[in-house]
Amino acid sequence: MNPMIALENRYCAHNYHPLPVVLTKGEGIWVWDTEGKRYLDMMSAYSAVSFGHGHPVLVSALMTQAQRLAVTSRAYHTDQLGPFLQRLCEMTGQDKALPMNTGAEAVETALKAARKWGHKIKGIPDNRAEIIVCHGNFAGRTTTIVGFSSEPQYRDGFGPFASGFVSVPFGDAAALEAAITPHTAAFLVEPIQGEAGIIVPPAGYMAHCREICDRHNVLLICDEVQTGLGRTGCLLACDHESIKPDGLVLGKALGGGLLPVSAFLAREEVMNVFTPGDHGSTFGGNPLAAAVGAAALKLLHEEGLIERAQILGKRLLDGLRAVDHPAINEVRGKGLLIGLELKPDYVSAREFCERLMERGILSKDTHSTVVRFAPPLVIRKEEIDAALEVIGAVFDSLPEPHGRSVDAVQSIAA
Ligand SMILES: *Cc1c(COP(=O)(O)O)cnc(C)c1O
Repeated sequence: MNPMIALENRYCAHNYHPLPVVLTKGEGIWVWDTEGKRYLDMMSAYSAVSFGHGHPVLVSALMTQAQRLAVTSRAYHTDQLGPFLQRLCEMTGQDKALPMNTGAEAVETALKAARKWGHKIKGIPDNRAEIIVCHGNFAGRTTTIVGFSSEPQYRDGFGPFASGFVSVPFGDAAALEAAITPHTAAFLVEPIQGEAGIIVPPAGYMAHCREICDRHNVLLICDEVQTGLGRTGCLLACDHESIKPDGLVLGKALGGGLLPVSAFLAREEVMNVFTPGDHGSTFGGNPLAAAVGAAALKLLHEEGLIERAQILGKRLLDGLRAVDHPAINEVRGKGLLIGLELKPDYVSAREFCERLMERGILSKDTHSTVVRFAPPLVIRKEEIDAALEVIGAVFDSLPEPHGRSVDAVQSIAA
């Protein structure tokens, strides 16, 4: 076994099941393993690397700021935080932002804001606020968040969980309305569910949810940690239905693929529930993160990455849909967030990803049947076409279903 894999296996907690590749270098859409083999990164660290690996503009912003001032805590003001959050608010149309580091922390911030708004502004009796979430949600791995997950493995053994969450089917606006009570503070939703397997709801769903939340004085909070910042071909996935949420969660790509940077954004009335001492984070909003985040937001427009995601995403989606193979169950997605769902009796998503890896494309399976295609937004159309050819070759390489088990055993043994 590769010595680096052996070391990780020995010393790292086994909370992931990585593909058997050891990466050492990245540039743009490419990464290299320790043997010098090059791979096209079609995963982008779950969309965190939307700008590609080591984008020179972002690396330069990082280096300059790291040498000047990196971490201060929010005990002091800095000359970086204000300009970053101004840009972020102006781009997203939100009034105020609360900076955190990881997506899960920003979601926790959203939950705290929603509950406090419910109790102090909406007038829900103390400790009775309810938040509605969707089946199949993914919002991170804290105990509160996994407590409202519908994925048994995410919860198993980790209880007891926080109460106050109600789950409804995703994509069903009538189910949302039926679940609302006078104690409902917020509806937390991903406009497209990422980890659930790139699930795109029916057209009109988000607009309908907006209308229902307005009618019942319930906050609509969109978790766009994965879908935000151009990934789906609009700045926010909410923009596809021209709706503005009351609260917005961003992360992943906000750190330019270099740092964990996240934020909860909201309108004034919601964010004003926080007063000094209510909530915080030692690293949240640090000048290094702010400088890189600001540079990333600027780059999004300067390089036309949102339009690229829309145009190239369509090219990739059309190309995948044109593949005629019995192993395909469905191809779905928006922009450069695409899921290829395979028939499990034909080939597992894991095996498909291993076959892609052998041919120089890195992706990752989600939920055993879905292969994710979410390359950096800086990818070019020739590279999309080359990837489509490789994907086609992997389909061609699949054995017939009856012969599959023998082949799978051989590929594991190899
Ligand atoms: C990845 C993700 C999160 C959690 O982000 P972390 O940085 O891993 O904590 C939250 N919400 C969505 C939709 C995500 O895809």
